[in-house]
Amino acid sequence: MPELPEVEVIRRGIRPFLTGKSIKKIILSDKKLRHSVSLWDMNRELLGNTIVTVKRRAKYLLCHLDSSALLIFHFGMTGNLGIFPLDAPIAKHDHLRIELHNDTELRFNDTRRFGSIHLLRPEETVDLENTFFKTTGPEPFDAAFNGEYLFNRAKKKTQPLKTFIMTNATVAGIGNIYANESLFAARLSPVRKVNKISLEEWNTLVKEIRRVLQHAIACGGSTISDFVNASQESGYFQMNFKIYGKDGDKCSICSSIIQKQVVGGRASFYCSVCQG
Ligand SMILES: [Zn+2]
Repeated sequence: MPELPEVEVIRRGIRPFLTGKSIKKIILSDKKLRHSVSLWDMNRELLGNTIVTVKRRAKYLLCHLDSSALLIFHFGMTGNLGIFPLDAPIAKHDHLRIELHNDTELRFNDTRRFGSIHLLRPEETVDLENTFFKTTGPEPFDAAFNGEYLFNRAKKKTQPLKTFIMTNATVAGIGNIYANESLFAARLSPVRKVNKISLEEWNTLVKEIRRVLQHAIACGGSTISDFVNASQESGYFQMNFKIYGKDGDKCSICSSIIQKQVVGGRASFYCSVCQG
């Protein structure tokens, strides 16, 4: 499942091929995604318009048009975007194809169809943070996401730390994999009650969340170099996790056996010696 680093890597990969390109034709499959937009609406808002930039907010990828309209993708479980030559074979799960004026095509492929596509008209994009992203917390790399913010937000809550940092309203885009990795890096137990965590520990966690995400983005950037491919290779990447999925293995710091426990309904991996 693509998490924030994967979406960021996709964004960095496709942005150079989309910026400044105008939209010539749109082809939509008849299969249902978790959320989609009618071809009629897409044609009306997108045809003839130029993509000015591609941004990311949480796990959403945002294509900004010169009209101020906004095309938004969420990748769900298996979604992916790639740039293809027009004559590249169409893959089975290509649900949206956007032909650009330079004879390339942006294709949204999604095998399991949990992904979604949203389209906002220019007048709907004026105040995104209070509309589309109303319930989304700060970005992990934003200055507003800091130890003090977490400390204040958590002081009256008793939920487990891992559940708290995976809550979208607390911070955007931290999924199960990077929650596990960040907590191991910060040496904090996933089950600690959030009102018992000190400001210093929150500061450490913020630092480690950023470091872990940045490392993952760098790994993705180096393993996926070519977004113009005709082979439908996955845009996801494999990185070496230190704790995620490692139950039964030895902890890389103290050699104790890594434990697995379900916290808030999600598989959690931790070292009971290193993480207190
Ligand atoms: Zn350990």
